Amino acid sequence: MDIAVNTSQSRYHVNEKGYYGQFGGAYIPEMLYPNVEELRQQYLQIMSDPGFQQEFEQLLKDYVGRPSPLYFAKRLSEKYKAKIYLKREDLNHTGAHKVNNTIGQILLAKRLGKKRIIAETGAGQHGVATATVCALMDLECIVYMGSVDIQRQAPNVARMKMLGATVVPATSGSKTLKDATNEAIRDWINNPVDTHYIIGSVVGPHPYPDMVARFQSVISEEIKQQLLEKTGSEDPDYVIACVGGGSNAAGAFFHFTDRGNVKLVAVEAAGKGVNSGYSAATSQLGRLGIIHASKTLLMQTDDGQIVEPHSISAGLDYPGVGPLHAHLYETGRAQFLNATDDESLAAAYELSLLEGIIPALESAHALAKLKELPLQPDNVVVVCLSGRGDKDLETYIKHLK
Ligand SMILES: *Cc1c(COP(=O)(O)O)cnc(C)c1O
Repeated sequence: MDIAVNTSQSRYHVNEKGYYGQFGGAYIPEMLYPNVEELRQQYLQIMSDPGFQQEFEQLLKDYVGRPSPLYFAKRLSEKYKAKIYLKREDLNHTGAHKVNNTIGQILLAKRLGKKRIIAETGAGQHGVATATVCALMDLECIVYMGSVDIQRQAPNVARMKMLGATVVPATSGSKTLKDATNEAIRDWINNPVDTHYIIGSVVGPHPYPDMVARFQSVISEEIKQQLLEKTGSEDPDYVIACVGGGSNAAGAFFHFTDRGNVKLVAVEAAGKGVNSGYSAATSQLGRLGIIHASKTLLMQTDDGQIVEPHSISAGLDYPGVGPLHAHLYETGRAQFLNATDDESLAAAYELSLLEGIIPALESAHALAKLKELPLQPDNVVVVCLSGRGDKDLETYIKHLK
């Protein structure tokens, strides 16, 4: 198990200017330049250091519980008439894939000599994953969160506080994720020397999308080895993952992007329907714009204001998509589908009853598209089960029939 650090010629990896095709870059205010530049200059060097790799791998093993199993889902396979495997990121400590990235970034922050960690969070999942590793490493943790989200996500706010983090409400604008992001960026500008900003997905200015994708690439690294053991081949026919910002999908796709025989399927949240006005299907609805300092596809009004997204799953409720995914979409390398709230709820119930696994609502979006793929009985399909459903029980109970 190695973190992918080789710079490669793949057209699906970031280029030296920080772009995937026309997407990416670092559209940052001048005052942020020193922070981002320090990170850009150092991240690959630090990540390729054997001592760093050893510490990262040890924590993934003993603290996170990796490798996560690749589980052959027998009853689900019978239902969809293909060989379906679930990559069990739901079994990680803290219940999702996000911790792979926060472990990597906290180790990096320590090597950069940082004393203080900031993050922003919408639903609180990334905030909890960040507060967790800050407790582990005894670093100060400040999490910005929209005041509306603080009301909506009380259990995660409690978790962060119990883990020792300070949760700071963002009270401007719509008082949600994008306002929390603005506050975090402001903090970083004011504290350039001692602070590292942990971004939670493959979004933000270069080098974040690439750095986060490399930390999450452990997912496809493990899938290859596990598939080889189970099927005799490293390559599945399909890899399916849900996409909010895109980090679990980036990790699940990473080692397969240059394998043309492996079909990549990215599933976005259609909310109440792609054209209902309550959706987060960015590849379908977005246009080129700049969000979180990155040029990418973005849901926006005619005059460029960000459109509030909607999804029943908080983790997919994001108006942009990472630049890698915008590129995978534009080049056609990945197929982009979307799942409505109702389809995803149905898929979550189905997995619970067929396999005894209650998935996160986000992951249920990926499961919901099994019914639409032209699957053959000998096809090997890997679904990235990005997280567990405990956090979604209130929503599930509300919709229990
Ligand atoms: C946050 C989250 C997502 C969405 O984030 P990506 O960066 O797109 O992976 C998906 N699934 C779960 C369980 C999450 O917590």
